[in-house]
Amino acid sequence: MKAKQLAIALILTLLTCDIQAQQKTDSLSKKTEKKYQATPPKTQPFGKEAFGASKSTTLRWLGMAGFLINSRGTTLMVDPLLQGFDMPILIEFPIKPKDVPSLDAVLVTHADNDHFSVPTNKDLVGVTKAFHSTIYVDSLMKNMSWPSFGHDIGAVFKVNDISVKLTPADHAYQNAYPRPGQRHFKNEDACGFMIQTPDGTIWAPGDSRLLDEHLHLPTPDAILFDFSDSEWHFTLAGAIKLANAYPDTPLLLSHWGSVDAPDFSPFNGDPKSLYDKVVNPKRIIVLAPGQPYSLRKLRK
Ligand SMILES: [Zn+2]
Repeated sequence: MKAKQLAIALILTLLTCDIQAQQKTDSLSKKTEKKYQATPPKTQPFGKEAFGASKSTTLRWLGMAGFLINSRGTTLMVDPLLQGFDMPILIEFPIKPKDVPSLDAVLVTHADNDHFSVPTNKDLVGVTKAFHSTIYVDSLMKNMSWPSFGHDIGAVFKVNDISVKLTPADHAYQNAYPRPGQRHFKNEDACGFMIQTPDGTIWAPGDSRLLDEHLHLPTPDAILFDFSDSEWHFTLAGAIKLANAYPDTPLLLSHWGSVDAPDFSPFNGDPKSLYDKVVNPKRIIVLAPGQPYSLRKLRK
């Protein structure tokens, strides 16, 4: 009898403990349960071979909004961010800034630190011939004595055989969230780059709300495609409108899958949201960071 009572008491105690443990585990797993965020394929690291002589034009996504372009041996990076970001990162970067052997140019679309990475560019400045950006971002670079050039929207500059034209952007969101003493931001503080190489034209639109001008540019042969569903970017609907304005142009996905921020629309884009809305979805190119992509001229 006593043994039976003891056994029942023991079972009850064990059950209670078990329930309590279960509740603890549930609340713990609720706390640590990660919300889904789309991520790119595994990084394909590269080294100095990516910067050498070449008979073609190759692009490599660096993660974030960054790209390396090697056009017949002329090398440039657009918005490189390879270290020192202030949010947790989801990917391995394909190269360290200290391993970059040389660059003819670094192009920066605007001052936000996911595009203008001072920690990255500080380690690139010794091997980079020239930095190019808007007048405002150039002023920030000049404060650090970098070899930089500022340009107006619509201006054209050369990097060896490559011709680059600044395209307009609308990304002066800072004015909507004024901080004490903050400068007034202008649309021309940010830009995109239309990069004309001997093997075709690459458009890096930068971060921008959709502008009518964006829909009436000479057809690029590749777009570094930001499809963030953010009101300060194209929005997803705007990105799709933009993609379908150039229905044959390959879309190299950018500005997604790199920052651990499942609830933050500028960083949480999912390529799956594009396939049933983009005309000719075969041109959606989901690159792994570091994976080479060969530029080809479209038949126009
Ligand atoms: Zn951005």
